[in-house]
Amino acid sequence: MNFTQTKTLYEDHILPTYGRQEVCFVRGEGSYLYDDAGKRYLDFASGWGVMSVGHAHPQWVKAVAEQAAALVHTSNYYYTRPGGLLAERLCELSGLDALFFANSGAEANEGLIKAARKYSGDKYGQNRHTVVTLNRSFHGRTHTMLAATGQDAYHKYFQPLTPGFVHADMGDLDALKALGDDVCAVLFEPVQGEGGVYPLEEAYVKAVAALCAERDWLLLFDEVQTGAGRCGTWFGFQHYGVEPDGISFAKGVGGGFPIGGFILGKKARGVFAPGLHGSTFGGTPLACAAALATLDILTGVLGDVERKGRLLRDGIGSFGGRVRGTRGRGLMIGVVVEGDPKAYAKALLDHGLLCLTAGTDAVRLLPPLTVSDSEIGEGLSVLREVLA
Ligand SMILES: *Cc1c(COP(=O)(O)O)cnc(C)c1O
Repeated sequence: MNFTQTKTLYEDHILPTYGRQEVCFVRGEGSYLYDDAGKRYLDFASGWGVMSVGHAHPQWVKAVAEQAAALVHTSNYYYTRPGGLLAERLCELSGLDALFFANSGAEANEGLIKAARKYSGDKYGQNRHTVVTLNRSFHGRTHTMLAATGQDAYHKYFQPLTPGFVHADMGDLDALKALGDDVCAVLFEPVQGEGGVYPLEEAYVKAVAALCAERDWLLLFDEVQTGAGRCGTWFGFQHYGVEPDGISFAKGVGGGFPIGGFILGKKARGVFAPGLHGSTFGGTPLACAAALATLDILTGVLGDVERKGRLLRDGIGSFGGRVRGTRGRGLMIGVVVEGDPKAYAKALLDHGLLCLTAGTDAVRLLPPLTVSDSEIGEGLSVLREVLA
């Protein structure tokens, strides 16, 4: 099947919700992808940060193959070992208390909202249901997460959205202080991803945490993009010295196998009882085995993520040309460019480098966390050619 035949199948039978690039991949290995003509690409997008340990990592492949042969799915009416082991590991790594397994980021965030409303409803009655998120944020594509997302472009056409969300500007503490007693939680990305790769400031996060403690609002972080080591710590919030009441995770945790979920701290872990939340596919032994293997691999590379991020950013910082600077943390990097970032992403693809864009002014790099120094060097020379 050639490229045109593949593309025709998509055009005939798949709804056109994505602006796809003109390439069909057939294989991946480590930090590289190969298209249907055998051309090799350096993957600095890693499937929106999902392929945290690269493509076809032998340890991941072995774990998934063995678990697939043993037990794939039983439903959540029964116990399986990988679920228990992964839950224990994620609670240890986050310092939080107990979790729920889902399948995607949006679904994970929805669970956090349910937890916050239940917590507040139990304690203060039903009128405390408003969740504060930030302008420029992104929390997913379900109706409730569109409402949470602080970008009007995503709201258009899909009204009415789920009520109960307000948006504030990042850094504006007074806007939060001015909110009324209908608030039950704040939900922030530690580093805004889709919105443009904007990290939260430490002083702001500490002040928000203090305000949450004072008013008994739950402090929630959307770690869907920043989690699983992306920012150089297991979770992005760990840069700030605060203790959240809950976090969500997805993207990089499964190393390519779909898994998401949310983890609650001591304060809110008691809100759920049997029947109040659920998921058919959540936490299958196969997904959990994939995530356990991913976390094992990440344990060996986590200590190097910040250094590799600095290597990339220092290199890019020396370009000049059409590069105005960089934003981000660890291996979550926004390259601020002059002109349309989408045009640069297309040019970089033509030169054999995959990247993403973020907001209106940034080319976004989310390489696998297993990326090597020499692959970073290779990426920098392509970036220099196109951007400098
Ligand atoms: C990608 C993303 C989501 C949505 O995740 P899905 O798996 O696509 O539902 C939510 N929040 C953030 C911060 C994300 O980056």
